[in-house]
Amino acid sequence: MATIINSTGEQDQTEDNVLFTGSCFCRAVTFTLSELPMKAYLCHCLNCRRSTGSSFAYNAAFPRSALKLSFQKPARTAFASPTATGSEDARGDAADDSTAIDESVISTFGVKASGMRKFCSLCGTRLLIYVREEVAVMQDKVIIPVGVIDGSEKDERLRPTAEAFCERREEWMPDMRGTEAFDKMFTA
Ligand SMILES: [Zn+2]
Ligand SMILES: [Zn+2]
Repeated sequence: MATIINSTGEQDQTEDNVLFTGSCFCRAVTFTLSELPMKAYLCHCLNCRRSTGSSFAYNAAFPRSALKLSFQKPARTAFASPTATGSEDARGDAADDSTAIDESVISTFGVKASGMRKFCSLCGTRLLIYVREEVAVMQDKVIIPVGVIDGSEKDERLRPTAEAFCERREEWMPDMRGTEAFDKMFTA
């Protein structure tokens, strides 16, 4: 069984009511979520623009206690290409068969007080975002980019209901149905 570590770093093998599963691109990091998101939203802030290289991020904020991470050898072929061969092994050289994968596969950028971003050091996938401590609405939340959640493209539970930092929203972007717009971060 893969090692399971909850978001506070304690080992915990109990099976919760799993509502969502997901992984990074190479599948070295997989996770489960046992609660619904507090909110799924689009974020147009500069941090999200820079860190995604896109115009906005599609995120969901979950209770930290709902998240469990596990680690294993990466998938041999993360790229779902019909032409993928052994020489295009998505694992690269980072993990041969003798290399154990543990939580150290997750790299952290930033510090708790001012915000942290965690990503898979093998494939670079953005996985977890912890907003700076002074943002009250996010203090007990972990933000997960929705695209790393399995089946998120058809999941009504993850439909965005808010847009944050609309002060930076692209002019060319059409209005979204069913989202509440905030100039900065929403507060509830
Ligand atoms: Zn990965
Ligand atoms: Zn943002």
